[in-house]
Amino acid sequence: MPRLNSTKFNHMQTLLRALYRTPNATKPQLSQDTGLPGSTVHLVITELTKSGIICESGIAASSGGRRATRYQINHDYGVLVAVSMRINEVELGIFDLSGLCLTSQILSLSCLDMGPETYTAEVAGAIQNMLAVHVQDKRRCIGVGVTVPGSVDCETGIVLQMSGAPLWQSFPLSDRLREALGLRVVVDKDVYACVHYLDHSGQMRRNRCTVYLSICEGIGSAVMINGEVFRGTHNLAGEIGHMTVRRDGIPCRCGNTGCLELYCSDIGIIKQYNAHVNEDLSSTDEVLDMMKSGDRIASKVISQAIRYLVDTTSTIFMTYDPDELIIYCRWLNQQRGLYFSMLDSLYKKSMFTQKHAVDIRLLGDESFNLLGAVAIAQSELLIKRCDELIDYRAEMNI
Ligand SMILES: [Zn+2]
Repeated sequence: MPRLNSTKFNHMQTLLRALYRTPNATKPQLSQDTGLPGSTVHLVITELTKSGIICESGIAASSGGRRATRYQINHDYGVLVAVSMRINEVELGIFDLSGLCLTSQILSLSCLDMGPETYTAEVAGAIQNMLAVHVQDKRRCIGVGVTVPGSVDCETGIVLQMSGAPLWQSFPLSDRLREALGLRVVVDKDVYACVHYLDHSGQMRRNRCTVYLSICEGIGSAVMINGEVFRGTHNLAGEIGHMTVRRDGIPCRCGNTGCLELYCSDIGIIKQYNAHVNEDLSSTDEVLDMMKSGDRIASKVISQAIRYLVDTTSTIFMTYDPDELIIYCRWLNQQRGLYFSMLDSLYKKSMFTQKHAVDIRLLGDESFNLLGAVAIAQSELLIKRCDELIDYRAEMNI
């Protein structure tokens, strides 16, 4: 009988996550990585191998003694569906258990304009069609991971709120998709899921405290402390995009005025520029091109955004005292000179923002929200499949 959250379940989850971070690990390496005793690692890995969810992947080089077997997640064991909701579109994909994309598509659906029942029915229909074409046996599908641009109760899969979309308040997204598809579903806020992806893919240095700052259509952040995402009491931790940076600022769809994302997000920068000139630009690339051609308004809008980002990153330092700050921002990445000037302003800002204090990294252009949805499915749904297969009679032995 399944025993979610038993000691053995927790050990399985820890070891599966470790195998995602370090594929082809040996039992001694897993023991060292997780801090679990060798005997526990041996028992759990043996059972996971019997279930077919992990498999042997070779033999390690000899270090004098017996050569150890390497293990990895069995990529062919099944598939995962990933769904990344954004403000004006939704991206869907089917992935193998390693995170390799087998197929993907983008639907033009706006969660601000469309009610959640209609929206969810459209997404469920698209998932059913994808599965019918690409997965012959639906039992191979482990479940669906969904990321949402708003706050979510990850235990129940209820979307708590999405700024500017009142109909989405307290919407049971996980239940609706499960009823429509007959599959397990896990739902989380997009930035929290992205932190899981950064951890799974080995891009995080697994320090005590890592902050991820995402600047795209909106602005959000997530903090991972000792390997766990800090959610706060109401799943609102990291809503930094709605921090006031101008008390006399413009109104935001969240109800506040002068929010950070109105000035620094992709949409914010475009709107700021268009509001000052008789133009209708639609991308940050165009605003950057105007700036490079000497346009005074474009330079002012971008300089203002950099100033607010310096203040924001400085606030992050003083609030969380992180080891590491990972930033995703396409417009900063495309104009690295702006990023370096932001760093210089930050380093000289105060005694709390010294250059040596925090390891700051700017990620590339590739959006990875969909991979965040894959990561939460790997982390939360694969373990539930394990839970059905594992024999708990040996519980007392570990
Ligand atoms: Zn706001």
